Amino acid sequence: MPAPSIVVIPLRQHIGAICEPIVSVGDRVKMGQKIGEGTAFISASVHASVSGEVIAVEERPLFSGEKVLSVVIKNDGLDEKIDGKRAGDINKMSPSAICTAVKEAGIVGMGGAGFPTHVKLNPPKPVDTVLINGAECEPYLTCDHRLMVEWADEMIGGLKAMMRASGAAKGIICIEENKPDAIAVVSQVIEGEEDLEVASLQVRYPQGAEKQLIKAVLDREVPSGGLPADVGCVVQNVHTAIAVYEALTQGKSSYERVVTVSGGAILDPRNLLVRVGTPIQNIIEYCGGFMGEPAAIVAGGPMTGQPVVDLLGPVTKAFSGVLGLNAQEAAFDENRPCIRCTLCVQVCPMGLVPNLLGEYSAKGLLDQAEEKLNIWDCIECSLCSYVCPSKRALVTWIKQGKAGLREKVS
Ligand code: SF4
Ligand code: SF4
Repeated sequence: MPAPSIVVIPLRQHIGAICEPIVSVGDRVKMGQKIGEGTAFISASVHASVSGEVIAVEERPLFSGEKVLSVVIKNDGLDEKIDGKRAGDINKMSPSAICTAVKEAGIVGMGGAGFPTHVKLNPPKPVDTVLINGAECEPYLTCDHRLMVEWADEMIGGLKAMMRASGAAKGIICIEENKPDAIAVVSQVIEGEEDLEVASLQVRYPQGAEKQLIKAVLDREVPSGGLPADVGCVVQNVHTAIAVYEALTQGKSSYERVVTVSGGAILDPRNLLVRVGTPIQNIIEYCGGFMGEPAAIVAGGPMTGQPVVDLLGPVTKAFSGVLGLNAQEAAFDENRPCIRCTLCVQVCPMGLVPNLLGEYSAKGLLDQAEEKLNIWDCIECSLCSYVCPSKRALVTWIKQGKAGLREKVS
């Protein structure tokens, strides 16, 4: 998609501390130039996605309505790039040099989580395996699928670099079997490589969640409150692997990504390569706009996504897709009484008791939800709400409960 005339680049697009702006109003910037420095241990620098003039450094809303300090750049249309530092032969780079290059490029987990990749590549314990998460198990989202088909070489190049950086001897590309074209292309690319394999997985939700993926592929169980490194592995997203490869071979920083635009209320759904900072409204208009009034606009997938409150909110590095759902597709919570059917308990992939967790959270019994019901183990997959015959807003209440607990400690 062509770059917009103005981009709004938030200085926090990741889990962790916000970046310090290092440009001022009136400065001229080039594409790929660092404009925000992430100085904290968990943070990720941000870069200009167009060349042009900085016209504001001020708080601007994200799609959620939350305001974040952002750099606003007027695009001069020249796409003048900075001369990024290329690494040369990845196989000769030291692990720390790879991590430094990934950090400089501002790469974060592009599947939605936005955790800084250079931190994840330096695991606290030895790891033996890097898993590439190509499950993409939520309905509608197809950006990782297309990337695996079209940019498999780059993804494998990024995987090898990440194995080198984290000290893992094995790399596994995990793909659900409803993407046979991706399995075929990736299998061909890795032919003859003994340390790499494709794991073809049954189609199951929420298999794309880290802990579920590790269990399905390696039969290892990440302990409650633990990390993948506790069971010897690191999980990385497809797009993240490609971004790592581009950073090392082209000196490219993380300033664009592929975004799925889909849903029954979108006239011409598709995947687009979009500059970070592009307003969501622009990408919907580029897909022909809405057919009538959408019943819901969701950032991310229908199960784990969040409502879009402000269409002027920009695409960020971890923004995988936007859905315009029509009335048939948008299921609303009715919140009838719980009939104790236990369906939510049976489907919870984390072994929780969602009916009680939801009730405790809704009633503000947050300490009990934390101590007795392990609320932090909830991965917010929405399966409990999805199966509930009483249409109870279980995951909404659980999210509110977690937010309440966070507020208590801050
Ligand atoms: S959202 Fe519901 S089903 Fe999913 S992990 Fe949390 S409690 Fe379990
Ligand atoms: S699925 Fe719904 S109705 Fe059934 S036990 Fe869970 S909350 Fe109650």
